[in-house]
Amino acid sequence: MGNSNSRRDFIKKSLTGITAAALAPSLIKSEVKNTMEGKLIYRTLGKTGMKVPIVSMGVMNAENPKLVEAALENGINYLDTAHVYQRGRNEQMLGEVLKGVKRDSYFIATKVPGNHADRKTGLYTDKTDPADFLNKFEISLKRLGLDYVDVLFLHSVKRKESVTFKPLMSVLQKLKNEGKTRFIGVSTHRNEPEVIRAAADSNVYDMVLTAYNFMQPHLAEMDKAIDYAADKGIGIVAMKTQAGVFWDKERLNPINMKAALKWSLQNKNIHTSIPGFTTFDQLNIDIGVAKDLKLTGQEMIDLKLKDKVAGLYCRQCDSCTGQCSKGVDIPTLMRSYMYAFGYKNLLQAKDTLAEIDLKNLPCNDCSECEVKCAVGFDIKGKINEIAKIDNIHDSFLA
Ligand code: SF4
Ligand code: SF4
Repeated sequence: MGNSNSRRDFIKKSLTGITAAALAPSLIKSEVKNTMEGKLIYRTLGKTGMKVPIVSMGVMNAENPKLVEAALENGINYLDTAHVYQRGRNEQMLGEVLKGVKRDSYFIATKVPGNHADRKTGLYTDKTDPADFLNKFEISLKRLGLDYVDVLFLHSVKRKESVTFKPLMSVLQKLKNEGKTRFIGVSTHRNEPEVIRAAADSNVYDMVLTAYNFMQPHLAEMDKAIDYAADKGIGIVAMKTQAGVFWDKERLNPINMKAALKWSLQNKNIHTSIPGFTTFDQLNIDIGVAKDLKLTGQEMIDLKLKDKVAGLYCRQCDSCTGQCSKGVDIPTLMRSYMYAFGYKNLLQAKDTLAEIDLKNLPCNDCSECEVKCAVGFDIKGKINEIAKIDNIHDSFLA
């Protein structure tokens, strides 16, 4: 008890050093006027030749079509969604917004997962069906109301063998040859360096979408893999740049998102980023970053809080994998926890857990959790909290 109190006091004390710039932006504003001085900084997505501002829009958590319109009006020209986001409503919402927009004035990327991947190994299996992938992609095109997308990513890849899994890679190539997607890529937020290198070595893929932020413990490896892929002409997009968005699950202490985004973009081989802004004020902040990447002294101090506070971001470092004798998939549970408490995207949190048998989690039978998380998460406590989501009806989450 004494320990947890002093830890709380310590976090509170540490967080009081955060600048006003890091405080949560207000949630009300009907429109964004791009009145800030300066021009957007552009980079080119490798061999694709697509020229994009360094800040694009991750649409995943957004539900307001006006926010997408405001992003486009303010110069953002690359939109990222996925087949599974909001169970299809995200692509549908984009489809409505894009109806009246000139097709050559924006780029759109979506992601489709391969089915029946082995949860533990991340490898595709004999049951993985390219026809299922194809069918899902056709549904995505219909929802978007488009004949083609600019980029189609194989969603959430964590092993090099999955990058080059022939049945799915062939379908992606076929769709590219047919013009249903201009470019193909893989997305990854676990074991990223291996996936990035495999995509670069494949001579098949054009793009990689990867987690990249100031909290990652394997940044040296990440940077080498990103440089390697960029040298081979791969277009690189960074996601999870805000590293969980909040330091605490009460969402009282936001990460300095401006600083976090600027930090990711210091790497010139990150060609663009897809922060998942959900308010007009956040859009304004992100547009500001797209014009001025210089980190202030205070912003650098704010990011150093990572040395003292674990935050909500599971680094997906896999240090815990194999520690639980009952084989619980902890990184997936912790990623879901971040979606729930950091992003407040409860549906995404629940969907992330879809293949885990939450009703029969063995954690209650453990008097003490055997798992030591690399950043000190209370694994059992967090599992107990996130597992409750299974009891909530979808209609309350959507
Ligand atoms: S729970 Fe901890 S050890 Fe496991 S992947 Fe996440 S950060 Fe790493
Ligand atoms: S409490 Fe920890 S060791 Fe026990 S089953 Fe859950 S994750 Fe595994």
